[in-house]
Amino acid sequence: MEKFVYLFNEGNGTMKETLGGKGANLAEMTNIGLPVPHGFTISTQACNAYYEAGKSIPSLVESQVLVALSRLEEKMGKKLGDPVDPLLVSVRSGSVFSMPGMMDTILNLGMNDETVEGMGKLTSNPRFAYDSYRRFIQMFCNVVLDINVYYFEQLLEETREQKGYNSDPEMTAEDWKEVIVGYKGIVKKHTRKDFPQDPKEQLFLAINAVFDSWNNQRAIVYRRLNKIPDHLGTAVNIQSMVFGNMGNDSGTGVAFTRNPSTGEHKLYGEYLINAQGEDVVAGIRTPQPIQTLKDEMPGVYQQFVDTCKQLELHYQEMQDIEFTVEKGKLFILQTRNGKRTAQAAIRIAVEMVEEGIIDKQNALLRVDPEQLDQLLHRRIDDKHQRVLLAKGLPASPGAATGQVVFDADEAEQLSAEGKKVILVRPETTPDDIHGIVAAQGILTSRGGMTSHAAVVARGMGKACICGCEALKIDVKAKQITVEDQVIVYGDLITIDGSTGEIMLGEIPMIEPKLSDEFQLLLAWADQEKKISVRANADNPVDARKAFEFGATGIGLVRTEHMFMDAARVPIVQKMILAEHYSERKESLAQLLPMQQSDFEGIFEEMKGYPVNIRLLDPPLHEFLPNKDELLVEVTKLQIQNPTSPELQEKELLLKKVRQLHEINPMLGHRGCRLGLTYPEIYEMQAKAIFYAVATLADNGAEIQPEIMIPLVGHVNELKRMRQVVTDAAVAVQEETGKQFQYTIGTMIEIPRAALTADQIAEEADFFSFGTNDLTQTTFGYSRDDAEGKFLQSYIEEKVLPENPFAVLDQNGVGKLVETAVKLGRTTKPGLKTGICGEHGGEKSSIDFCYRTGLDYVSCSPYRVPLARLAAAQATIRHQSNKNEVFTTA
Ligand code: ADP
Ligand code: MG
Ligand code: MG
Repeated sequence: MEKFVYLFNEGNGTMKETLGGKGANLAEMTNIGLPVPHGFTISTQACNAYYEAGKSIPSLVESQVLVALSRLEEKMGKKLGDPVDPLLVSVRSGSVFSMPGMMDTILNLGMNDETVEGMGKLTSNPRFAYDSYRRFIQMFCNVVLDINVYYFEQLLEETREQKGYNSDPEMTAEDWKEVIVGYKGIVKKHTRKDFPQDPKEQLFLAINAVFDSWNNQRAIVYRRLNKIPDHLGTAVNIQSMVFGNMGNDSGTGVAFTRNPSTGEHKLYGEYLINAQGEDVVAGIRTPQPIQTLKDEMPGVYQQFVDTCKQLELHYQEMQDIEFTVEKGKLFILQTRNGKRTAQAAIRIAVEMVEEGIIDKQNALLRVDPEQLDQLLHRRIDDKHQRVLLAKGLPASPGAATGQVVFDADEAEQLSAEGKKVILVRPETTPDDIHGIVAAQGILTSRGGMTSHAAVVARGMGKACICGCEALKIDVKAKQITVEDQVIVYGDLITIDGSTGEIMLGEIPMIEPKLSDEFQLLLAWADQEKKISVRANADNPVDARKAFEFGATGIGLVRTEHMFMDAARVPIVQKMILAEHYSERKESLAQLLPMQQSDFEGIFEEMKGYPVNIRLLDPPLHEFLPNKDELLVEVTKLQIQNPTSPELQEKELLLKKVRQLHEINPMLGHRGCRLGLTYPEIYEMQAKAIFYAVATLADNGAEIQPEIMIPLVGHVNELKRMRQVVTDAAVAVQEETGKQFQYTIGTMIEIPRAALTADQIAEEADFFSFGTNDLTQTTFGYSRDDAEGKFLQSYIEEKVLPENPFAVLDQNGVGKLVETAVKLGRTTKPGLKTGICGEHGGEKSSIDFCYRTGLDYVSCSPYRVPLARLAAAQATIRHQSNKNEVFTTA
């Protein structure tokens, strides 16, 4: 018989797939003796069985729930629905991966007209009992019966006003009773039924609702965003209640064992006295920092601090812990690995090594390379003048500028129009998620560092400021008032999530700098990694950045970018328009010294590391004006000024543009095909490289130029181009009297090249995989057309798992890479191989490159640090089965 239900003491921390993250950790904490309220977990398999049975709870699951319930009742010495001493439970969802705020929890289940009386007598606190009951009705109606909380809040507010109260604590037991009568009326009106009084009926309705919530809109959006598979299902945790709202010796809170924003090793959290459950994260009351608990409840505080230490050591990870204090007694309600910013992730990993909790390899595996992107972005320039509007809590670091918008839909709309927006809300809820995704940053006036906005923004690496109470946000009027200043919809503001500062207008930003911990972690990465990291750079400035970020070579210099310079375009155009070889040679001679100085600059920045230079690749028409625009100009001139010399010139240009026009330029006259037609272009480029090498060699510099012929599909293409380059080298050596080393290789970006790599390797000293073009040619997609037209829907409809231009398609494109490496190395065992597409900076692609035995990856300079980390992770991950992997590659 399949087991669907586990008491907390029957599970453990490794059973996340079955019990969900929350359930597995509740079981683990129970096992290590922490004060966790008793309960049981209904498995994720039960959730799937529920859906298989057409959204109904299978009888086997039902009977196991009832057995577990009676075991819980025995343990607690209380019974669900007992009028004298009732058991109350919470019903909590929990999937394999934590999905904060995505699923709904129900507290105080088991309350009804009878048990509320019992509760009141038992606690000698009828007010507390009725307050709990009305909370339960409200929550249950919202989550299970789908009645908008608005109706309940409205009624509550009316009652408060009628009685002349300012806040809930003034409400008496009798007042709550009245409210409950009203609440029941709302239920009757909306469901045509009475509020369910039978606790078991309540329980199963709630279980159903949790299962259903697996497929609510916000859960689906969250899963898609975080690539969590839909088939996992959610577990349900049924747990006996503890009460943080029993008076001033009770409370509830959340804490991180280290600061999730900076990583500082200091307990970091918030709590509220006399409050229950979600009150802390809901942002309704602004909570107190955890450190003040030391004064308010010294005993509890010490016990909590000890528990935090114990949990962190147990999991060897920073923990995010929920706790409740009931009449001076501490209970732990949840623990999980805390979400953190990149900055915090690095600091925590490094400090945990220093504290002897984990080793270096573990530390390297702890930081998500994707997340590092956050740290490599620009920050606000401190030196710049700014108009400070207000200061809130620095909830998620980074700076952002954008137009103020007041709701999630607007944020989405404007951002779709290409505008940058800051989403401003009193507080956010999971329904705002699409707006948060669309916004550059988030700003709220309520809620603390653990409020919804803060947690979600940190997860996404977006700037966020919370709890800025100085802002009076009027969502309806779409304006913010700060003292006497008014900011309206569409105004530009800048927020700094690292300091909490909100500023008027746009503030200039500065380049990022790597922290000491970051440098240290990367140094460890360099010790581990067995695949090197280069950068793609087209000019000395980028090369310097690459060097600073730790690149040990340039994997791709795109020489055409040097042609695009405004001063050079006319010469390039003249070269293209040349009717005769001699005319073309003239323009090329003008270009040569310019290219040479570019190369010298790059070589100098790279201080002897290899530099891979690709000869001209794009079709020539890219250097000429747009055909349609030119046609308009010519037509205008024909009408207005038919005899002007300008017209003649333009007509000639148009003629050439038409000649060069191609039906499908991506597959047209480009790459080595140009080199074959106009060998003088490649000759000039090769000479420029060699002159640069010869010149710098004077200063004793050892330069390793790698000359790359693009778009080869047949070995004969490479053979001829190789000859052109070698001739140029010989010529320069003779002319300058200097000897130098160089290698000649090719980019593998045409499937035929990969398939005949053994032949191609005869002529190549290295292969560099141009995985952007290789993806285009393998899929038969033109990237711009694909991304603009159908790729998005392909991904949404799951025709493709990912965008193959962002994440290397290992099964298809990857197979060609593997084939080429294998074939190439049968011809030349030491053949150097690398990848220079954007994939070179993406972690799963880097993992693939390592497994395939490539010598290096190359990516944009800003991604070099994350590539270094990803390269180390790949090496560590596959260390044990490295040989085996290599032989299958
Ligand atoms: P989420 O996944 O959204 O954090 P939880 O299931 O953790 O949802 O619960 C929401 C809130 O209710 C949390 O603050 C939690 O500590 C509190 N809570 C859950 N179960 C209990 C319980 N048995 N007794 C007291 N508080 C509870
Ligand atoms: Mg929780
Ligand atoms: Mg290419």
